[in-house]
Amino acid sequence: MKDVPGSGSYSGRYWHFLDDGRMQCDLCPRHCRLHGEQRGACFVRQRVGDRMVLTAYGRSSGFCIDPIEKKPLNHFYPGSAVLSFGTAGCNLACKFCQNWDISKSREMETLADAAMPEAIAASAAAHGCKSVAFTYNDPVIFAEYAMDVADACHQLGIRTVAVTAGYMGAEARRDFYARMDAANVDLKGFSDAFYVAFTGAHLQPVLETLQYLKHETDVWLEITTLLIPGKNDSDDEIRAEARWIARELGPDVPLHFTAFHPDYKMRDVPPTPCSTLARARKHALAEGLHYVYTGNVHDTAGATTHCPACRAQLIVRDWHAIESYRLTPTGTCPDCFAQIAGRFGNFERQFGRRRIPVRIGE
Ligand code: SF4
Repeated sequence: MKDVPGSGSYSGRYWHFLDDGRMQCDLCPRHCRLHGEQRGACFVRQRVGDRMVLTAYGRSSGFCIDPIEKKPLNHFYPGSAVLSFGTAGCNLACKFCQNWDISKSREMETLADAAMPEAIAASAAAHGCKSVAFTYNDPVIFAEYAMDVADACHQLGIRTVAVTAGYMGAEARRDFYARMDAANVDLKGFSDAFYVAFTGAHLQPVLETLQYLKHETDVWLEITTLLIPGKNDSDDEIRAEARWIARELGPDVPLHFTAFHPDYKMRDVPPTPCSTLARARKHALAEGLHYVYTGNVHDTAGATTHCPACRAQLIVRDWHAIESYRLTPTGTCPDCFAQIAGRFGNFERQFGRRRIPVRIGE
């Protein structure tokens, strides 16, 4: 059968046959083993005869222009606009999913916006976006589509951003991140027990992705941990996570602690108090990390970038808006000339705290 993007019959890669005739998907560590016309746990990858089909290729759940701070990325062209989109499905099963209407969608009809890679890249350029983000649901499961979009973006000088849980097989990871300029990886907790109980996944493959990104690629990396009261917010767990990041990835990888709101299968857990985010930030700074942020709350102190050398305030933020910006175009502190980790350029004006839906082709 011929591949027809957007038709639900696009051939997926990263799989092999087992001796018993089942097809094993190698795209992520779940390693779904498929009979007949079975779909994988992510729902969008399906065995059809002797093919693996990516049913979501060329189909999106919608496009929005966001500030890059919303991904969240605080050290990747601050203030710039990013064209964001996702598809449907997910390879994790987080009980606390904050985007579950998209990630748990079994309704392929919700993928209303047919969009080919070249059209997405052209739309990003036409709207003045510096980058395109694969987000809302995990791009791992639509990797072939995301990689084709990334190639089209790079043809036009548009950068690419993955917002992901980092749960990916080694071969696909190499291909995928060769096409990404930045990533925000969700490190959902710092114990395997938490991963197993609340996400249906395991911690170690995520740590391997983080190490791969930091040590074997030029991808700009930031990490986010959603703190859930009573589940992954103990002092010991937060300190252990920050210590691991400082030791294994280095102190310059930004870490965002963000606030949970009751959702999906965890509506009985209260929202994260601001005091928990502030406590986590204090612990992570004490463990030696240079850039630790709080998110999903109004907390100017927790959203500000300081110079790690002289402690000057360099980028002051409120939620996703920048209130003052003092970095030089090359990303140095104007007071002591220390280099700030990240990707920076001329800062002229910011996109601001807006969210603009767009239709591709319009
Ligand atoms: S990408 Fe989907 S089909 Fe493949 S192993 Fe992961 S959950 Fe299963």
